[in-house]
Parts: sequence; C-alpha cells; structure tokens
Amino acid sequence: MPADTLRQRIAHWAIALKVRPTQVRIQRMTRKWASCSSAGRVTFSDELQRQSASFQDYVIVHELLHLRIRNHGKLFAATLRAHLPGNPWIERA
Ligand SMILES: [Zn+2]
Repeated sequence: MPADTLRQRIAHWAIALKVRPTQVRIQRMTRKWASCSSAGRVTFSDELQRQSASFQDYVIVHELLHLRIRNHGKLFAATLRAHLPGNPWIERA
C-alpha cells in the first residue's frame, strides 16, 4: 500500500472519529507504530504501509482517538471497540 493510500485511510478515520490533526506525518520510526503530540500532530511509521488492513485500522484509530482521549481508560477502550468491531488487534493491546 503506497503512502498516499495510507494517507487516505488516515483521512477517512479522522472524519469518522471527528478529529482534526494539525499535521499527519508518515515517516520511518524505530520503536513505535505511531505517536501523537499534545499539539495535535500525528506521526505514523512508514512500515505500516506493509501491514494488514486490520492492523492499519487498529493503529490509525488508536492514535487518532488520542486526540480526543489522551489515556487508555475505559472510555478509550469502549470507543475503540465501537469503531472497530471484531478487529483482532484490539484485545491484544
Ligand atoms: Zn495509546
């Protein structure tokens, strides 16, 4: 999946989750799949382009959701599940 397609997937989820990142970057990351700054900038690993669709969705929704909910509490987990029903990565997180 080329970077522009990953970008489209991220843009799709930003609309679905009603979040507006100030900037979305796709770049090489050594330890993580994604990160977000307090200023609303979200960065994704370019390696994500070679992962499965379900894993991409999990990483994208997880990180974008942090723009609304900063922690990993019950509301975060419930919202994640609501947007990704049946996603196999959620329970392992
Ligand atoms: Zn997180």
